[in-house]
Amino acid sequence: MPEAGVAAKGLGRAVIFLGPPGAGKGTQARQIAESYSVPHLSTGDMFREHVSRGTPLGLRAKPIMERGELVPDDLVLSMVEERISRPDCADGFILDGFPRTLPQAEKLDEILRKRFKTQPVVVHFVVDEKQLMRRLTGRRTCAMGGEIYNIYDHPPKVPGRCDRDGGELMQRPDDREEVIAERLAAYERQTRPLVDYYCGRGVLKDVDGMAAPAAVTKNVLQLLAQKK
Ligand code: AMP
Repeated sequence: MPEAGVAAKGLGRAVIFLGPPGAGKGTQARQIAESYSVPHLSTGDMFREHVSRGTPLGLRAKPIMERGELVPDDLVLSMVEERISRPDCADGFILDGFPRTLPQAEKLDEILRKRFKTQPVVVHFVVDEKQLMRRLTGRRTCAMGGEIYNIYDHPPKVPGRCDRDGGELMQRPDDREEVIAERLAAYERQTRPLVDYYCGRGVLKDVDGMAAPAAVTKNVLQLLAQKK
C-alpha cells in the first residue's frame, strides 16, 4: 500500500470523491493524487480559475456559485470531458466535486466506458452536519498553492499565512453561512441520489470522514490498494 507523500504507480482508473461540501474531499484528493502521481481534478477549482480569469465560462458560473447553486450540467460536462481527455489522465485521476447530478454521472459512465476498461471507484465521505459547518466556516485556502487550513482544527503557524509558501490565506466567498445553507441543500437535492446510484453498481465505498485527516488518508489509500 502506498503511503501518503510517497509516489505510487498504477491507479489506472477514475476515482470519484463523493460527499457534501466540507467533507474533506479537496484535502484528501490533494494527498491521494500526490501519492499516486495522478491529476487531481476539482471542478470547483476549475470554475474558480475561470472566474478569476474572467473567461465567458467564468462569467456565467460566477453568480451561480455565489448563490451556492450548481452550474448547469452542459457547462460542467464539456469542461470535464476536455480535461480528462488529456494525456496526463491516462493512468487515472481523482475527481473531486464531480459528478454532482445524475445526468453528470451517466455521462461520466459513458466517457469512462470508452476510455477505461475498469469501473470507477467511488469514495463516499461520511460527515455529520455540525462538523460540515465547522469545516466550511473555518476553511481558509492559500491563494498561491491552494493548501487548505481550518482556523479551528488546522490553523496555520502564522495567522493568515500559508505554512508552505507564505501565501495569503483567503476565505471562499461561498463559505459564508447563508451560502453554505444553500450549498448543503443543493447537495441533498441533487447530489445525494448518487450514493444510491453508485451503491447499486457495487462501486461505492464509505469512509468515515469525521476521523483525523491523516487517518482518513490512510483509510482511502488502503481502500484503493484493494483488488480492482
Ligand atoms: P466546490 O469547490 O466543489 O465546493 O464547488 C464550488 C461551486 O462550483 C459549487 O457550489 C458549484 O456552484 C460549482 N460546481 C463545482 N463542481 C460542480 C459540478 N460538478 N456541477 C455543478 N456545479 C459545480
